[in-house]
Amino acid sequence: MTCPVCGRREPRNPDAPPWALVRDASYFRCPRCSYVYLDRNLLPTPEEEKARYLLHRNDPEDPGYRSYLEDFIRKAVLPFAPPEGRILDFGSGPVPVLARLLSDRGYRVSAYDPFFAPDRTARTGPFDLIALHEVAEHLARPYFELARIARALAPGGRLAIRTRFAPEDPGDFRTWWYREDPTHVGFFGSRSFAALAGRLGMSVDLDDGRETLVLRSL
Ligand SMILES: [Zn+2]
Repeated sequence: MTCPVCGRREPRNPDAPPWALVRDASYFRCPRCSYVYLDRNLLPTPEEEKARYLLHRNDPEDPGYRSYLEDFIRKAVLPFAPPEGRILDFGSGPVPVLARLLSDRGYRVSAYDPFFAPDRTARTGPFDLIALHEVAEHLARPYFELARIARALAPGGRLAIRTRFAPEDPGDFRTWWYREDPTHVGFFGSRSFAALAGRLGMSVDLDDGRETLVLRSL
């Protein structure tokens, strides 16, 4: 098996137990970068993914959701994107609430979503910042996919990422609410992002140790 974040190859004994077993689903954990990922045979189909996203309650009028997004903007966007800079909201979902909030602040914003805003010309950079808000946990091949996304960054541009960090303990992981969404297929931690940044040739500008990361292209 090859870790989809750091690329570590590991011969696996098929009889060895997974790091965590939840009902019939096996999760593996990379011994080098601690990335936790779902058995590749259990990845959701695109149809299952889309159906699940439509259940997400991302109501633009919900003050709780707006303040959750504002918190991300304050922490991961404002300190890093220049005024009126170009931003891509990657994985904007059924309703591009984050993109709207960023436009309200004067940024020039494009939104792309493979299911709900699939016009690939929106991905044409260069961007000063690409926001991946609750996207990384859906990626089956994070290194490969983020490398492709990061190609649209301007020199010195940032990837601003929010995804919940995985619990260290498999017992806590088994009962973790964030894992229960069947489209959440991979879970990071600080070591995973450090490894990912190294492999992407990027540096870590911000890591809050919990859920928010900003990586800078060199
Ligand atoms: Zn790894």
